[in-house]
Amino acid sequence: MKTPSVAVIGAGWAGCAAAVELARRGADVTLFEAARTPGGRARRIDYHGQMLDNGQHILLGAYRDSLRMMTAVGLEPSQLLMRLPLQMRYPQGSGMDLVAPRLPAPLHMALGVLRARGLSFADKLSLARFASTARWMGWQLNDDCTVTELLERFDQTDRLTKLMWRPLCIAALNTPPERASARVFLAVLRDSLGAGRSASDMLLPRVDLSALFPDAALAWLQKHGGKVMLGVRAAHLRAQADEWVVDAIGHAYRFRHVVIATAAPHAQALLDDVDPALAQALEFDHEPITTCYLQYAPQVTLPSPLLALEDDPAQDHWAQFVFDRGQLDAAQAGLLAVVISASATATAVGDSPLEMSVARQLAVVLRRPELASPLWRKAVTDKRATFACVPDMKRPLNATSHRGLWLAGDYTEGEYPATIEGAVRSGLQAAAQLLHAAA
Ligand SMILES: Cc1cc2nc3c(=O)[nH]c(=O)nc-3n(C[C@H](O)[C@H](O)[C@H](O)COP(=O)(O)OP(=O)(O)OC[C@H]3O[C@@H](n4cnc5c(N)ncnc54)[C@H](O)[C@@H]3O)c2cc1C
Repeated sequence: MKTPSVAVIGAGWAGCAAAVELARRGADVTLFEAARTPGGRARRIDYHGQMLDNGQHILLGAYRDSLRMMTAVGLEPSQLLMRLPLQMRYPQGSGMDLVAPRLPAPLHMALGVLRARGLSFADKLSLARFASTARWMGWQLNDDCTVTELLERFDQTDRLTKLMWRPLCIAALNTPPERASARVFLAVLRDSLGAGRSASDMLLPRVDLSALFPDAALAWLQKHGGKVMLGVRAAHLRAQADEWVVDAIGHAYRFRHVVIATAAPHAQALLDDVDPALAQALEFDHEPITTCYLQYAPQVTLPSPLLALEDDPAQDHWAQFVFDRGQLDAAQAGLLAVVISASATATAVGDSPLEMSVARQLAVVLRRPELASPLWRKAVTDKRATFACVPDMKRPLNATSHRGLWLAGDYTEGEYPATIEGAVRSGLQAAAQLLHAAA
């Protein structure tokens, strides 16, 4: 096989996975990344010398390709991620407390549900009914509908919907259940509630998100002959004879293949001249996510590294989950990361009032008044964090109708919502198809 020359545009998780896989299998790869830090939406940000993330993330044991790629570039996932059993734990005295014990599947879930605190017998029965019906259906739906419709069809109790299904749906799909795709939700549940014990584990990063894969992917790429152009935006893309020309920093770079591995809106901009119809097909609605970082004295900790919170806008309670960063990384002692998914309404109140509301929410639900007064606070909002994951979405394939032009990113066709794993799988798929076409 002749060595194909490939430009990968974008060093998010999809682009990093594609570039490493292509180089591993002999391609001559150049990776363009507009930002100075790789990782895209899952990357490190520097806040006055403090390393935060563009948003707190959580991974699942079922993220097999992400974990495999970390290992491929020389990382040891077990050292970089804290592994927790599947759980939905609210602060004591509120909500529910469900932790799957470390037993083989499906015993871990059955016993977890049986032992769960804060759920009535009817709630537990309704959860067991959901799991057994969904398993019987193979966690698949022929006709997609909203998550709310699915929960009604499965006769779920109001309390279970409020404490479990709604927060899970918002966390996983970043879309409220009344608008979210039941088909995609079931795919996520198959790999969590319905999966074997280790696949259903929740994985919390101990390091910043760029250090979790993208930094090492770039270093690996350079060591293995790839070119990495950080801080270089691909300004324009055009076809010329049998080649693709990427215009960047005043130069025209030529390649046989191009993998556009940017988020959908940036891919649209690059495709506008090449294929306006394809650019149009990448028009998706997006949902924001906000992470409020609250720093307290180093001795401040939570009873668990991860707690669920009940959001209730009427009470000014916006947050759905809080992470104790100090339990993940000693250097971040006293730092809490509080997540508000689908945060459009919350962000309308403004950063500073929102940070204060979130601190007050913690003080109230954890019954610790001192949490209302953090030492410093910082809300980080990504306005286009994920595509809105609605029923029957038409997501594009990796292959385009143009020879040598490929798409990769969390939004391409796949069974996952916008996630790290969806992005990595898309990057790997684009690489495999490109190599097959070039052979
Ligand atoms: C706040 C937040 C919380 C999230 N929480 C979770 C979670 O808990 N679990 C989970 O699995 N997922 C989560 N996600 C989703 C996950 O981060 C994304 O699905 C994933 O990172 C998308 O990766 P990507 O490679 O497809 O795209 P991106 O990350 O958007 O990467 C695209 C890259 O392309 C670059 N680029 C764009 N245009 C150009 C150009 N013209 N030239 C060169 N470079 C360019 C960008 O700078 C960027 O680095 C969250 C996302 C956010 C924002």
